[in-house]
Amino acid sequence: MPLPSFISMYQQLIAAPSISAIEDNLCMSNKNVIELLANWCETLGFTCEIIELEGGKGRFNLLAKRGEGDGGLMLAGHTDTVPFDDSRWNHNPFKLTELDNKLYGLGSIDMKGFFAFVLHAISELDEKQQTQPILILATADEETTMAGAQQICKHPNLKPARCIIGEPTDMTPVFMHKGHMSTAIRVVGRSGHSSDPERGLNAIEVMHKVITKLMFLKEQLKHKYSINHFEIPYPTLNLGNIHGGDNANRICGCCEMHIDMRPLPNYKH
Ligand SMILES: [Zn+2]
Repeated sequence: MPLPSFISMYQQLIAAPSISAIEDNLCMSNKNVIELLANWCETLGFTCEIIELEGGKGRFNLLAKRGEGDGGLMLAGHTDTVPFDDSRWNHNPFKLTELDNKLYGLGSIDMKGFFAFVLHAISELDEKQQTQPILILATADEETTMAGAQQICKHPNLKPARCIIGEPTDMTPVFMHKGHMSTAIRVVGRSGHSSDPERGLNAIEVMHKVITKLMFLKEQLKHKYSINHFEIPYPTLNLGNIHGGDNANRICGCCEMHIDMRPLPNYKH
């Protein structure tokens, strides 16, 4: 099977819905996108490995490789898109539409379109002149849980020398990125009547101590680390959500807080 034209690959990728969402009713399998990519990669002489994500649900990663050994160049992207709001689209989101020299479609930029560019570029390379492996990695669930990326991290034999990730960056090459950690801290105390504090353990009061420590850490991070390539040059820590207790006259038995942290590359604390 010959490789379809650039625009045909682009159209087929956009026409294959692959929405990721936290809500189960919006979530889709990405299998159709993975199968398209695997077929095209095989046409270009790649060996394909399709890996189903742990926990099933029809999500797959694709790792395609042309050439032997370690090293080489990996071209990586995700196959899923966010859901779409019908009322805010002027075109069918699953039909690639050209208008004023721009292409519109769900995932056209972020980032199924990337694979059309990659495959078309590779089709124009002379395979005989290739001295190191080329890898194409297409992952699942980037827009929600990162489950695809997490699974590929466990791959026993994936050691490219360089990697290009085709996320949109307004045509500016981005060579480093902050990390992202989102987590919850839950304090479980002991509830009781507010008139007798000694019989309980107030989770909000304990959380107050946790927050004090976190605020100290936040300031430390801000003053200790800096990389000027970032618009916000220091690591950030955000207290995003807190909930605890049920009534003014009860000792709070449980308090939960959600935090978000964006560390700098090579950050060790
Ligand atoms: Zn993306």
